[in-house]
Amino acid sequence: MTHQFTVSTQAHTRMIDITERVQAVVRESGVSSGVAHVFVPHTTAGITINEDADPSVVADILASLERAVPDDAAYRHSEGNSPAHVKASLMGFCQTVFIDAGKLVLGTWQGIYLCEFDGPRTRRVIVKIQPDAE
Ligand code: ZN
Repeated sequence: MTHQFTVSTQAHTRMIDITERVQAVVRESGVSSGVAHVFVPHTTAGITINEDADPSVVADILASLERAVPDDAAYRHSEGNSPAHVKASLMGFCQTVFIDAGKLVLGTWQGIYLCEFDGPRTRRVIVKIQPDAE
C-alpha cells in the first residue's frame, strides 16, 4: 500500500517533524506488523531521523550543514541551488521504520523529519506500508 501527504515548508531551510503524519498513515493502513518506507520525491529536500525532544539538536544539525555546505562556495549548477541539492543528498531521500503493534518503532527521543533546503515549497511525502508476510 502506498500513501502520500503534502507538507508546506514555509521557510528556505527547515526540518519538520512528520512522525505523527507517518503514524497516521500506519494507523489508517490497519497494518500491525511490518515496515514503513518514507520517501521524498524531490532533489532539494530529504528525510532523516533524529532527536525530537530538544529543538537545539535540529538547530545544530542545520547550522552544521550550513558550515559544511556554504551558500557562497563555487558551484557549477546554473539553477543556483547546489547547496540544497548537496544537503538533501547528505540527509538521504528515504528512511525505513519498523511497525510493531500498529506503531512506528522509534527510540524515545527519535522523530522523523522532512528536511527542506530550498523552500518554501509544498513537498510530497510517499509512505509505503509493507505488512509482514503471513
Ligand atoms: Zn537545482
